[in-house]
Amino acid sequence: MTDLTRRTLLSTPLSLLARPSGIEIGPSVPAGNIIVERIEGNDVYIRQDLRDTEGDWFWWCFEVRGAQERTLRFHFTGSDVIGTRGPALSKGPTSFWRWLGRSAVDGKCFTYSFSLADSAVQFAFAMPYTEIELQQFLKDHSGVRRQVLCQTRKGRKVERLMFGSQSPDALKVLLTARHHACESMASYVLDGLMEAAMKDPWLKQNVQFAVIPFVDKDGVEDGDQGKNRRPRDHNRDYDGDSVHPSVATLRQWVPAWSAGKLAFALDLHCPWIRGQHNEDIYFPGGEDQRNWAEIVAFSKILEEVNEGRLPYSASNNLPFGTAWNNSSNYSQGMSFARWATALPGTRAAGTIEIPYANCGAVDVTPESAHGFGHYLALALWRYLRG
Ligand SMILES: [Zn+2]
Repeated sequence: MTDLTRRTLLSTPLSLLARPSGIEIGPSVPAGNIIVERIEGNDVYIRQDLRDTEGDWFWWCFEVRGAQERTLRFHFTGSDVIGTRGPALSKGPTSFWRWLGRSAVDGKCFTYSFSLADSAVQFAFAMPYTEIELQQFLKDHSGVRRQVLCQTRKGRKVERLMFGSQSPDALKVLLTARHHACESMASYVLDGLMEAAMKDPWLKQNVQFAVIPFVDKDGVEDGDQGKNRRPRDHNRDYDGDSVHPSVATLRQWVPAWSAGKLAFALDLHCPWIRGQHNEDIYFPGGEDQRNWAEIVAFSKILEEVNEGRLPYSASNNLPFGTAWNNSSNYSQGMSFARWATALPGTRAAGTIEIPYANCGAVDVTPESAHGFGHYLALALWRYLRG
């Protein structure tokens, strides 16, 4: 399990920003995203690359080399993009991602003292999860059939993972993540959910699972924000002519595959950077009250069975019509959850939000998020078995 967080650095050279200072800062790591404005002594001025994002967002990820035995101060020159537990960091292929902590943070800056051994250190808004991590998961978990949903515009393969019952009478469960490329912590939950669902004898016998781990595969690998992408956010692409090949293919494939037996569809997300509703796990509701009653029933089971490190209370849920969750979202296009809710025969379809760093008072890490996924699987077993 701990291998999940191990990242192999790319062997291709960094697109380095060589500086007289000798420090090299490169975005050429999986999920890499940084613009280096200037380096003045030990002060590094950087900002996140918004690319095709409408408005602002906060993903960034980069590697620093050649800074051994120096203390560098990283200044973000745009918005405040340091999360509630400071930056995430990893010291290369044999290291694990951890939070640096808020003590290293001062406003929009953070400071790090590189040891002699710190020849390459990666920093990121949160722990990245890309195809490297998925490959490690698949290596550790046999029994998953790895298929290709479609190709992306950049020629990458969008994975479709299948496991469980192959009986034509099996219930169907569809799990998706990374409609928004930067929402990496949700992927660690998905790993845990898949791992536990694969092992459960009842689920194995009665349910066929289809999992799309990276709906926006290009965005995940390239380190895009993904949220509020122009011309269309992947999670607003479920009506009219879909802009994105993965969404267009899902809209064709899912109804044929599920054939009226879609018992549960869950789309995993991470919320905003900080503040109310962004530091708890919750389900945002849709306007379909029949479906919402099912999601509430599931979430109450989840609250009851959850004994993991990450707390969850059904009272954190955000019913339709509260806070940001209202029909103004609908004007930008249909979401996955609304689309799946409307498929003939769907019992329940929802979205879950997993905070990046703070879950109540507890730290979200690859391990704690993975553990929470186990309890999601347990809740699913109880919910479906009745
Ligand atoms: Zn999202």
